Amino acid sequence: MRKNIVAGNWKMNKNLQEGIVLANELKELLNGATPNCEVVIGTPFIHLAAVAELVKGSAIKVAAQNCGDKESGAYTGEVSAAMVKSTGAEFVILGHSERREYYGETSATLNAKLALAFANGLTPIYCCGEPLAIREANAQNDFVKRQLDETIFALSADDFKKLAIAYEPIWAIGTGVTASTEQAQEMLAYIRSLIADKFGKEIAENTSILYGGSCNAKNAPELFAQPDIDGGLIGGASLKSADFKAIIDAF
Ligand code: PEP
Repeated sequence: MRKNIVAGNWKMNKNLQEGIVLANELKELLNGATPNCEVVIGTPFIHLAAVAELVKGSAIKVAAQNCGDKESGAYTGEVSAAMVKSTGAEFVILGHSERREYYGETSATLNAKLALAFANGLTPIYCCGEPLAIREANAQNDFVKRQLDETIFALSADDFKKLAIAYEPIWAIGTGVTASTEQAQEMLAYIRSLIADKFGKEIAENTSILYGGSCNAKNAPELFAQPDIDGGLIGGASLKSADFKAIIDAF
């Protein structure tokens, strides 16, 4: 049975003290309850250890937003998958469109990061999604298929089974424009059909596929009610504990 997941992506927001306050607020809002979905918060690197310690024993799990593409060594400013794991984080977001666009991440970089994430026991949340021009040309399916073919579809079935996927149309990220429920469901069903072609129906049925892009407390219930939408990757709305909790409660 695949898991429902609501994962926050704080991006480069909140200093350490503010991040601890936010994580603590969410923990208090959950109040020891077990939500109907896995709850993950993706914090900046410097918050990981403190937040992982704070949420220990609660339903909240912690993700890094990236990891290095090398194991260790003279790579100034980088943070390795092993370092992420040593903080207590369990997940790593990989392939976010902002990393691809602003930091030049290619499929080759992502493949190296995926391998290191698995080698260090981290669960990748692998992001894919098309820019506006591709959607306007109605070429989104081919675009996303290529992203998957070049990266996670080259994994072994054993590794593939461990990850989650987030479809995030770039035109919907941080714009306030959400893909319609139909557009989101259609793409996630398409991705699941590609997984079935590649790895078989059982693995496809067991893969958690999330929608991301201006998901909020208002649109989450309808999105999460779709048969192929197993949760959300949430940017802006994860920065306010009450908003994020309301999205969790959409399950
Ligand atoms: C994201 O960047 O992962 C995201 C979905 O952002 P937002 O919710 O702000 O659109």
